[in-house]
Amino acid sequence: MPIATTRIEDVETVIVDLPTIRPHQLSMTTMKGQTLMIVRIRMSDGIVGIGEGTTIGGLAYGPESPEGMKVAIDTYITPILLQSDPNRIGPTMGAINKAAQGNNFAKCAVETALVDALGKRNRLTASELLGGRFHDRLPVAWTLASGDTGSDIDEAEEMLAKRRHNIFKLKIGRGDPQQNIAHVAAIKRALGDRASVRADVNQAWSEAVASKCLPLLRDAGVDLVEQPVALRNIGGLARLARETSVAIMADEALSGPETAFQLAQLAAADVFALKIAQSGGLFATARVAAIAEAAGIGLYGGTMLEGGVGTAASAHLFSTFPRLEWGTELFGPLLLTEEILEEPLEYGEFGLKVPTGPGLGISIDEDRLNRFRRDRAERSFHVLANRKTGS
Ligand SMILES: [Mg+2]
Repeated sequence: MPIATTRIEDVETVIVDLPTIRPHQLSMTTMKGQTLMIVRIRMSDGIVGIGEGTTIGGLAYGPESPEGMKVAIDTYITPILLQSDPNRIGPTMGAINKAAQGNNFAKCAVETALVDALGKRNRLTASELLGGRFHDRLPVAWTLASGDTGSDIDEAEEMLAKRRHNIFKLKIGRGDPQQNIAHVAAIKRALGDRASVRADVNQAWSEAVASKCLPLLRDAGVDLVEQPVALRNIGGLARLARETSVAIMADEALSGPETAFQLAQLAAADVFALKIAQSGGLFATARVAAIAEAAGIGLYGGTMLEGGVGTAASAHLFSTFPRLEWGTELFGPLLLTEEILEEPLEYGEFGLKVPTGPGLGISIDEDRLNRFRRDRAERSFHVLANRKTGS
């Protein structure tokens, strides 16, 4: 029986502004809300695939913004999609890669939507399409980033009591490194063996400062330090990984299989933070994971603080890795006060349940999407964000 041809009929991109539970402080910015770019690809058989592109703090974290992704998809990627066979995701993404350089986040959103649609069409979960899941539930870390030591400890205690998280990541790198270390040490002292404490410097330190601080973080009981130096300083990262016994994770330095290979070759990291958007899609991230596995580098499921769509997509992929030694940080939806999914993702018992329905296994609540989409909102994003976070 010949395979029926399916065509892509419409590609819709929507910017959605959502309030967050509190300001989220990183070395490069303080987020007071989150902006998602949602893409919906409608096919000739009525199936609609959903994808998401989200960044941390607009353009503060990396070279793509939600607004830029929308323009890239509307202007350059949609014309290619309209001429592609959506069942052939590889060749479709190949054509897109040829026509558009970079733009990993936009490509990831589009590829996610194609995977979602293919799964829905064939009644398979995205994790089955991506190789088959090993885990139905993934450990999820929580980021303590209020900027205040006492509030961070209270927040961690609350999470432990609720059995929601027992892995905590601290955002440091802003201000005096000695104070940063004292902050981390106080939190680890308060939590003791009940929790794993990790630190993310987000590239803020020079190699000299990092070289001095990493042993202090290790002595404070920190078991993983994320991206201590600038993303381009791979040599420095390698020297730091060699000289300190605390595990070092590459995050911003990873932008897909090529940089993964460079990092692995130089033994520049003990752990890779896998991020589907940063690597340019689900399949590219699977290739990054394969490089890590071959090089003996540990895997950690990272996040760009995506909402429910991007988080579900990441969860499907991460569930296919037999050894996810360092867990994940797929807590993005928990940072938002408003949900755009019909059924929120399920968190509990220190983890996230990987959805079981076809495709990503999620659906968008149209009313909620309409309420928060920027092109229909009367109020500005900043007014909304500031009101909700009280800052
Ligand atoms: Mg990071």
